[in-house]
Amino acid sequence: MEEYDIVIVGAGPSGLTAGIYTGREGLKSLIIEKGVIGGNANTAPVILNYPGFKSISGLELLKKIGEQAEKYIEIREDEELIDVQKTDNKFYLTTNNSKYTAKAIIFCSGTTYRKLGVKGEDEFVGKGISYCSICDGMLFKDRDVIVVGGGNSAAEHALHLNDIGVNVTIIHRRDELRAQQYLKDKLMEKGIPILWNTVLTEIKGDMFLKSVNIHNRETDVDEELKVNGIFIAVGEEPNSKIANNIGVEIDSNKYIVTDKSQKTNIDGIFAAGDVTGGVNQLVVSCGEGAVAAVAAYLYVKMVE
Ligand code: NAP
Repeated sequence: MEEYDIVIVGAGPSGLTAGIYTGREGLKSLIIEKGVIGGNANTAPVILNYPGFKSISGLELLKKIGEQAEKYIEIREDEELIDVQKTDNKFYLTTNNSKYTAKAIIFCSGTTYRKLGVKGEDEFVGKGISYCSICDGMLFKDRDVIVVGGGNSAAEHALHLNDIGVNVTIIHRRDELRAQQYLKDKLMEKGIPILWNTVLTEIKGDMFLKSVNIHNRETDVDEELKVNGIFIAVGEEPNSKIANNIGVEIDSNKYIVTDKSQKTNIDGIFAAGDVTGGVNQLVVSCGEGAVAAVAAYLYVKMVE
């Protein structure tokens, strides 16, 4: 059983920033990450609103933040938190690899991409279905692809795919995008087609994805569309289950509830970044990570 002052769960923007702070404050701290450093932010094709960088990809920015964090704190990738128990002022954490104790925990566990829930989705992930245009976009150069969703992510994926020479069409269930205006303007400017009021009803193929069935909710017409790829961007679900299992309060959308210091309702547990909902922006996640780290530091000093 390894003993820590603070364990940070997740190595995305908020977790890495929290780690920079706890490490620099001289606390014995550790970041565990179930995937790789950067998390979902790695999949952002281009970031135009992170101060200090006029334009940078998610992968590049998170690599820089990760390298900075590693100067101050150990980060263990492929390590998934499975269980947390609390006794007195100590938490007992079990991961797929190890067991730890900590005086405080910061949940920076982010979100998981929401699935569409249609027939064929699970079967064709990695065989034509992707959630990351920056990772897989080039595989579809000169081929026909659809992006499903109407938010910022869908717009950004579509713009990136268009830029790299993919024939992209957006499919959206309503007649209006919820993406920000500058993204809507860019989609218009680039002439990216949008199938409005349309939902996917089935994804089909053999070894690879070949076509989709779509349904127009306005006209009630069903159609089969030949496509080589699908990028799904229909939102995210917070990774709050383990925190909630030990009594951390979550809201009706399962986001962890915190106060202004990123404290949860359980003493010694803090949360930051996308898992807390709110304004889902990289700079906000980093800011919340810093606030959580300072509050956790003060808590550790109080209980030791
Ligand atoms: P989002 O904003 O929640 O949008 C999800 C989209 O998918 C919505 O248009 C929604 O339709 C649609 N949708 C949801 N479930 C669906 C289903 N079952 N079938 C078909 N369509 C479905 O998610 P997001 O775009 O992934 O963004 C997540 C968060 O990150 C947001 O807060 C966003 O602002 C932020 N973000 C920001 C940036 C940026 O600042 N540049 C970039 C990426 C993401 P409806 O519109 O009908 O609900």
